[in-house]
Amino acid sequence: MRLDDESESSHYEIRSGGGGFGLPAGIALGRGGLGCGSIILILIVSLVFGVNPLSLVGVAPDSGSQIQRSEPGSAPGEKTPVMSRALKILGSTERVWGRLFEQQGGRYAPTTLVFYPGGTQSGCGFANASAGPFYCPADKRIFLDTSFFDQLSTRYGAPGDFAQAYVIAHEVGHHVQDLEGTLAKVHSLQQRLSEGEANALQVKVELQADCYAGVWAAQDRNLLEPGDAEAGLRAAAAVGDDTLQQASQGTVTPESFTHGSAAERQKWLRIGLESGDPARCDTFGSGGA
Ligand SMILES: [Zn+2]
Repeated sequence: MRLDDESESSHYEIRSGGGGFGLPAGIALGRGGLGCGSIILILIVSLVFGVNPLSLVGVAPDSGSQIQRSEPGSAPGEKTPVMSRALKILGSTERVWGRLFEQQGGRYAPTTLVFYPGGTQSGCGFANASAGPFYCPADKRIFLDTSFFDQLSTRYGAPGDFAQAYVIAHEVGHHVQDLEGTLAKVHSLQQRLSEGEANALQVKVELQADCYAGVWAAQDRNLLEPGDAEAGLRAAAAVGDDTLQQASQGTVTPESFTHGSAAERQKWLRIGLESGDPARCDTFGSGGA
């Protein structure tokens, strides 16, 4: 990707050390009472980029080994090159969605990217690296352990900076859904549905976030280099529920999908990439949420 000339977003926090034992300022434990019970927690964890946390439990490295981790040459709490790149991508999403919201007569309120080492408290419960990146509607923030990017390359075979951009753009997609009221609507619907139906609805949420990620890339096409779109599509396939389930369980159970199959994820990312139009990202269809 061509990110050299891109300016970084100023909407970020770097939480340091402690493995989540120290609560960051501004986030009270009591927030857990605002509807972030176990069902919400499952929903929120399901909103992560595509990693089923349960599938990672057995294979994720002991978080104790990650808590003290920081990139060579940087003190804990300092911005690293990986973070700078993520913030350039976030900055680009702000400019794109700002423009798209404006065209509809609205105003885009940016999300905040929280970098955390090992673990931290979020408005949606405790976050740790094995949960993967996720968006928390309760505090309107994206939580990202940068070691996930390394995992993305080693575990899922999706290296490259566009794959990283896709992760961020997908989470920003959830923030857009939040601003549009979709997340709240879906959540209230899910309360009344069976687990299988709730999962099916969740898949639509995730596929729309994939499509929105594609819309962002299409709107800022000058950032893309040859091969980037293909790398993004490969990343989408790598985090398809069938791909992940096959790898972790050796079998695939479509009724438990929460993010969509590899083919679906590729399809919706491609629709966003080719159209650049958020209106084309109607994964819910006419009778949906
Ligand atoms: Zn997601």
